Amino acid sequence: MTGATAIVFDDVTMSYDASGSAEPILEHVSFSVQQGEFFVLVGPSGSGKSSLLKLVSGIALPAAGRVLDDEGIAVRAPSAKRGMVFQSVDGPLFDWLTVRDNVAFGPRVAGRSRAEQLTIAQRYLDLVGLATHETKYPHELSGGMKQRVQIARTLAADPRTVLMDEPFAALDAQTRRVLQREIARIWRETGKSFVYVTHDIREAVLLGQRIAVLGRGPRANVQRIYEIPLEYPRDELDPRFAELVKQLEADIEREAGFQWSSI
Ligand code: ADP
Ligand code: MG
Repeated sequence: MTGATAIVFDDVTMSYDASGSAEPILEHVSFSVQQGEFFVLVGPSGSGKSSLLKLVSGIALPAAGRVLDDEGIAVRAPSAKRGMVFQSVDGPLFDWLTVRDNVAFGPRVAGRSRAEQLTIAQRYLDLVGLATHETKYPHELSGGMKQRVQIARTLAADPRTVLMDEPFAALDAQTRRVLQREIARIWRETGKSFVYVTHDIREAVLLGQRIAVLGRGPRANVQRIYEIPLEYPRDELDPRFAELVKQLEADIEREAGFQWSSI
């Protein structure tokens, strides 16, 4: 691929043990995400997907190798340039703030005027379909609505790269399907780079322009990167969709030696 990169992993090894005696979680990981791309990372539970996102966000640092941001600068700490949406529907929101003020939080800490904060909050609440709920508090919302608020709040801080760690895994199947479709639309409307982590291959094929497969850990690595040649919005009833899901599952089983459906 050509073009500007949003994230580069250059021979990255990571361990949670600062002394370096523990076995690395990730080892010799190299790949890059293009600017504006919807990049999905799949891998079995415990393989290191969340750890890899921590490296992108700057919450964790590599033991060896480099993670570079969209300006080619090594990531050393969290930055407003990279926004994260977490799986938890309850932890991340500020309970004492209304939906509107949760979303206005990023613009507020960035020093925007109150009028600007409200304009930005309005824009992103519209984008996620929550405009009529702006004066509610998080405890008044369903899990799906809380995830919409989290997405709006992350986008309102205007990150260049959006990181999502299994954001819909805790939701019921019906809500998850609705939000999966919406996130693809939101990505296309914002033009930002997305790095999206999931252990659900159907979800990966529904969303990703490219899908990186992380093998089992420890010492996990990206085993393969797939390009998904389907146009958006994607149709799960399209025979090519089912074919791609089947192919990914079969490849992973063969290459990683375990059955995806059993994890
Ligand atoms: P995934 O998101 O793919 O399920 P994680 O990145 O959460 O995987 O975890 C990868 C490995 O790192 C697991 O073996 C997990 O137990 C370990 N791990 C995760 N977080 C920590 C931590 N804070 N301290 C020590 N080990 C951790
Ligand atoms: Mg995880």
